[in-house]
Amino acid sequence: MDAQAIIDAEARYLVPTYQRPAVVFAQGEGNYLYDTAGKRYLDFAGGIAVMALGHSDPVWAAAVADGARTLTHVSNLYHTRSHVELAQRLVEHSFADRVFFCNSGAEANEAALKFARKWARTHHGPQKHELLAFEGGFHGRTLGALSLTHKAKYRQPFEPLVPGVTFVPFNDLEATAAAISERTCAVFVEPLQGEGGVHPAAPAFLQGLRRLCDEHHALLVFDEVQCGLGRTGSLWAHQAYGVTPDIMTLAKPLASGLPIGATLVTEAVARAIEPGDHGSTFAAGPLVCSAALTVFDRVNDFDLLERVYTKGEALMEGLRTLPTDHLLEVRGQGLLVGAEFDVPVKLLMQAALEEGLLVINAGERVLRLTPPLTVTLDEIDDALDILARCVNALETEA
Ligand SMILES: *Cc1c(COP(=O)(O)O)cnc(C)c1O
Repeated sequence: MDAQAIIDAEARYLVPTYQRPAVVFAQGEGNYLYDTAGKRYLDFAGGIAVMALGHSDPVWAAAVADGARTLTHVSNLYHTRSHVELAQRLVEHSFADRVFFCNSGAEANEAALKFARKWARTHHGPQKHELLAFEGGFHGRTLGALSLTHKAKYRQPFEPLVPGVTFVPFNDLEATAAAISERTCAVFVEPLQGEGGVHPAAPAFLQGLRRLCDEHHALLVFDEVQCGLGRTGSLWAHQAYGVTPDIMTLAKPLASGLPIGATLVTEAVARAIEPGDHGSTFAAGPLVCSAALTVFDRVNDFDLLERVYTKGEALMEGLRTLPTDHLLEVRGQGLLVGAEFDVPVKLLMQAALEEGLLVINAGERVLRLTPPLTVTLDEIDDALDILARCVNALETEA
């Protein structure tokens, strides 16, 4: 099948949940992708902040191949080794005492929601079941996670969702104080909102959430599915804030391209959970956990994290000098970067794709850049050159 035949067959056979550009990718190497015609693209989408180590990293690939040859899956009915090693790494390098594994970000948040409900019911009774989440927040597409996701377009077709969720303006501590009560069992927040437009939490906001949760005996849940594991230049995004949560969810970069999610909890939360309360057939098999171990050990490195931070600063500085009057603001942390324009970014994204640069958006007017953590300063310069050549595409949107 050539590219057009693949695109036509997709339109015939797939449920139409995505609109995709007319390119078929066939190969990835390092921080580049290649389409079926052999054209090369600099990958600043990174599979939506997933490809921490870039494409076909040799150490990662060896772990995957070894897993395929030795042991891929036995289910969670039996003991295996790699998920224990991965859980130990996560616990030893975070606030958490225990880990639950699953297969995606939405599932990690579903587990967080169930654990919070069980914890609250166990200690305070069934009336303590309400949840707070934030405007602009994104926590996934399954019904529980969707109930915590703010965007009306994602929610409304599927209502009624989980009852008892209140949305509060992000970074508004006063509004949060007014909304929280003794009936609140958990507060879900991204320390750096990704899908919602790349908005960092203010330090006083996250610190204030910790205090409000303590005062009202509610659990604080940090969704670090996108911003966690090195993306911001610290291992966990919340480390820059001096605040720790009761639960943290991870997924996107954890196995650098293979499906995995994790819900990290304190001992107090874990104590409310018993065998049979939650589970997953596929979660944390030996192959995916071996891959994740190579990712964790590479990312949990002072020099790599410092480079992520400095490369992010270089990227943001370069974006601020783009030759266009449409740029409103550049913001982000490390290599989770957003550039907000006063016009839609769709045509800019298309022009960049034609010039060999893959970028994504976060809402209509925010260009989002989430390259592999292994991106080089030269590649950042190349991406900025391409964007500078393409910004006049924004004129046709104005
Ligand atoms: C992507 C994302 C999710 C959902 O993850 P999936 O793997 O797509 O289910 C949840 N929370 C945040 C912050 C995300 O960026």
